[in-house]
Amino acid sequence: MYERTEFYEKVKERLIRYARVDTQSDHYGKNTPTTEKQFDLARMLRDELISIGAGEVYLDETACVVCGKIPSNMPDGGGKPFGLVTHMDTAPDAPGANVKPWVLENYDGGEILLNAEQGIVMSPKEFPSLLQYVGQDLVLTDGTTLLGGDDKAAIASVMTFAEHVLSHPEIPHGPISLAFTPDEEVGGLAKDLDFDRFGAKVAYTLDGDHLGYYMDETFNASEATLTVKGLSVHPATAKGIMVNAADVAGEFLAMLPRFEKPRYTAWREGFFHVIAVNADVEHAKVVLIIRDHDRTQFEHREAYLKKCADALKAEYGENRVTLSIEQSYRNMKEYVDRCPYLIENLTQAIRLSGLEPKTEPFRGGTDGSALSARGLPCPNLSAGYENAHGRFEYVPIPSMEKNVEILLHLCGLFGRMKDD
Ligand SMILES: [Zn+2]
Repeated sequence: MYERTEFYEKVKERLIRYARVDTQSDHYGKNTPTTEKQFDLARMLRDELISIGAGEVYLDETACVVCGKIPSNMPDGGGKPFGLVTHMDTAPDAPGANVKPWVLENYDGGEILLNAEQGIVMSPKEFPSLLQYVGQDLVLTDGTTLLGGDDKAAIASVMTFAEHVLSHPEIPHGPISLAFTPDEEVGGLAKDLDFDRFGAKVAYTLDGDHLGYYMDETFNASEATLTVKGLSVHPATAKGIMVNAADVAGEFLAMLPRFEKPRYTAWREGFFHVIAVNADVEHAKVVLIIRDHDRTQFEHREAYLKKCADALKAEYGENRVTLSIEQSYRNMKEYVDRCPYLIENLTQAIRLSGLEPKTEPFRGGTDGSALSARGLPCPNLSAGYENAHGRFEYVPIPSMEKNVEILLHLCGLFGRMKDD
């Protein structure tokens, strides 16, 4: 059986308390944050930061961002500053209200009855990841909602870490900045994190599944919209006159490379992905996303779409076809690589905690991708939850304890560095 650390009760209590607060964000929410209820957790975290003795605690009442600091306790104010960023919202993909977290102790590797009344069972046959956690204590759902371990498991670890450091002045450390942000699940990209207030010049997000994983490489991403203005006339007398917008959109779709789609790509292969098509004779609109880890390849993809649009303009008229491309986020790697100590310290901290660090190029983006591009290099450490965004989400308590340990090692490593 797994041996509990001094952090066990703290991370457990915190995850359960945070999970009960509904903080689901909304893809269609027009405001910032996309849902008002994220403030419920924001206020809770602000009060908690104050009560554990963090400094400069601040809740942005407009943007719903909570910040706090652990000031350096080195004699010369030394140690290299770094920050930790986690998100407060939960995914809109599964019900997020009335979460009823519970703890299964000493998991035996069998089926787990999540909900006797509704006969909801989680089985390692369907979710083999469970078998890695035999003998551990798991925080589970009642099978009707998500858990919100994404990303509240990370918040629980960060808060427990902060409390430990603040209550143990004998642990030498530099300045550490903390931020809790809204709307990660709906592309918020931590856009309202105020860098001046945050203070640190480098940071880590804590998010993602599987304990011990880190991430320093994400997609470059943009969204393209092709619109076509057609010309409708009676089909009987349309020869040489009609421009069928739906046909033009179809031609555009046919120009996209056959095998460069999510269905046919993996690892570092990029793609075009059509997410919406709306078309009739008079109007057509195609929305697609472009993804590639490699910056040059990515730029080629954007240029290729422009070429396609130009060909259609040449055929049907300059004013009939428009293409707009909007940047979503950038691969964090080129920014993170400029501060090699970010990954050196992180992997060392993971090793010092007795785990082998693992990574793979992430086929998506994180708040850290956007933060990195905005000037705050920000790789990611896994939060350690499993089956996120669904009713079978769970968090092994030892994974949260381990992350507290990793953060303590990280804080030691940064504490020994000079601030420049
Ligand atoms: Zn997340």
